[in-house]
Amino acid sequence: MKKYDFVVLGAGIAGLAFAKKISEKGSSILMLEKEKQIGGLSRTIKHNGFYLDFCAHRFHTKNEELLKEITSLPNLKLYKHTKRSRIYMFNKYLKYPFEIQNLLAAMPPHKSVLSGTSFLMNSIKKKFKKPRIISYKDWFVYFYGKQLYNVMCYPYTSKIWHMDPGKISVDWADQRFPKEGLRRLIKKIIKKIITLDFSSYKLEDDELAPDGGMFYYPLRGIQELSDSLARVSIKNRAEILCSTEITGISTKDKIIYYTLNKKKYSAKYDKLISTIPLHDFYKLQDRKDPKVESSLKKLGYMDIIFVYLFLDRKNVSKDSWLYFPDKNIIFNRAVEFSNWSPKMCPEGKTSICFDITTYEGDKIWNMSDDKLSEKTISDAKRINYIDKKDKVSSYVFRLKNAYPVYDLDYKKKLNAIVKFLESDSLFLLGRTGIFRYNNLDNSVEMGFKLAENFIEGKDPKSIYEY
Ligand SMILES: Cc1cc2nc3c(=O)[nH]c(=O)nc-3n(C[C@H](O)[C@H](O)[C@H](O)COP(=O)(O)OP(=O)(O)OC[C@H]3O[C@@H](n4cnc5c(N)ncnc54)[C@H](O)[C@@H]3O)c2cc1C
Repeated sequence: MKKYDFVVLGAGIAGLAFAKKISEKGSSILMLEKEKQIGGLSRTIKHNGFYLDFCAHRFHTKNEELLKEITSLPNLKLYKHTKRSRIYMFNKYLKYPFEIQNLLAAMPPHKSVLSGTSFLMNSIKKKFKKPRIISYKDWFVYFYGKQLYNVMCYPYTSKIWHMDPGKISVDWADQRFPKEGLRRLIKKIIKKIITLDFSSYKLEDDELAPDGGMFYYPLRGIQELSDSLARVSIKNRAEILCSTEITGISTKDKIIYYTLNKKKYSAKYDKLISTIPLHDFYKLQDRKDPKVESSLKKLGYMDIIFVYLFLDRKNVSKDSWLYFPDKNIIFNRAVEFSNWSPKMCPEGKTSICFDITTYEGDKIWNMSDDKLSEKTISDAKRINYIDKKDKVSSYVFRLKNAYPVYDLDYKKKLNAIVKFLESDSLFLLGRTGIFRYNNLDNSVEMGFKLAENFIEGKDPKSIYEY
């Protein structure tokens, strides 16, 4: 039986980043991936000459060292883009990230006065009293006031998560939105409202806003980044096997069992790194505990459906993203790939990814592909996003375990699970593996960090801040 220093479950971007770093130091590594291709959530499907990401996958980071390492990967060229996006509200397409002064100008006048006053009052009030912030709703109201919460936060957030923002943990916001940028942005907004200046701020100020700013993207989908990390590892003799089925893990003997092309295999490991869903990892390894099982039952990932539309024209808009908070529109976002790179679509054609968050087995998940496409096309035409005369073909893809769901006591449940699953030879890693709302740069960072900790002999668990 072959023995490896490291066996990694899952070849998503976190596992690939780990493999790159650790293989550079000469460690032996085996990666087992269940899909036909590597990349996980950061993969790109090829369909009839189109390159299709799972919705969008921009690369952006504030970590200069990480950016340097990524942009110097061999045979990977990343192009710099400025995020252009809008949100469909009040039957208009408004700039996104929100510019509150513009949003107030677009609202019906009575709502605008109410929201503007509430925003300013809130800014004064919060100087004197800091409330207890537990949920995403508390967080949003603290920064923007109750009235803007009703307009800016509730409709879109509750649509995506099928949940009231008051029931989503504040960690979701804390992990995504740097507070310092937000504070600076809010100061600018206050100044604009007080001086009745409704003009746009400079595009670079988008950097301060949640989800705003510039980003990097390759020519043919985010897969290029995953492939580039994999190439370095393979050159360093890492073995990456796709279409494998892991059948069991003996934690005492440190042996993993898997099948590939209907043949059974086993391998010995010194350390095992799991980037696969917590529930699947628990089932595969051989230790059991009813309390952990009960926590796992109450912790879940959200699934997603992508409806891709293909049109015989160069593009339908100039946006990288569009957001749709209206519950009567089936999709949450639209991403037009021809605006990301000219190589994403055959010449003269465009493709758009519409995402629909859902759970396996619910009404939307069970809709036929034809019905999902029909509803997506009719909604997109109704709001004049695509032309009524446009001839459209479609492709539907269902993806499980896309988003870790942070309910109010997720952390307590997660801590118990992680404590049970991790040991001196078992480690959890990445967005799916550690149930952390990572962007792809965070997953790469985590993969690099875990490898560095092993290399430097530090406590590998110290990278998980709970
Ligand atoms: C719709 C959407 C849009 C996003 N957009 C962006 C964006 O624009 N920018 C950004 O920075 N981030 C974005 N993200 C986040 C980004 O995709 C993730 O942070 C990143 O890809 C996570 O990588 P990972 O390796 O941690 O996890 P994963 O990609 O989930 O990796 C886990 C791997 O394990 C494999 N696996 C699962 N079960 C098994 C099993 N039993 N056996 C073997 N293998 C298994 C999976 O196939 C997968 O390859 C987006 C995510 C989604 C869902």
